[in-house]
Amino acid sequence: MSDIISKSKRSINMSHIHGTNTTIEILVRKYLFGHGFRFRKNDKKLPGKPDVVLKKYKTVIFINGCFWHHHKNCKLAYIPKTNTDFWVNKFAKNIMNDKRHSRELRKMGYHVITVWECLLQKDFKREMNRVIRLLNKYRDTHSA
Ligand SMILES: [Zn+2]
Repeated sequence: MSDIISKSKRSINMSHIHGTNTTIEILVRKYLFGHGFRFRKNDKKLPGKPDVVLKKYKTVIFINGCFWHHHKNCKLAYIPKTNTDFWVNKFAKNIMNDKRHSRELRKMGYHVITVWECLLQKDFKREMNRVIRLLNKYRDTHSA
């Protein structure tokens, strides 16, 4: 198990270097699947194409890269020194879109969970346990 975790951490670091979320998305999905959760990926019919959709839990999960989604007060969410105006506008737009998508999804009755790259990097298992606790809570509210 500890080998799996150290392997996960290594890939997370790699994905950061290459500036892509793909690896963290895969790791989060693998972890959820390994814990018995079944879901759909990137449902285009839902606002913001959520990375993970758990119908049974009426929950969507966004797995956010800190740079692109401009995680507040996060050191991964820096503004590049060149084309600064472009990036400031880009991030403002991304943040607005994220907020709008969450609002629309909540209106449709979905629970929205956001998972951040930096927290996964710091302690993958801990962040995933938080997600699983929330999912169990949401399942109870719906089966009750
Ligand atoms: Zn962050």
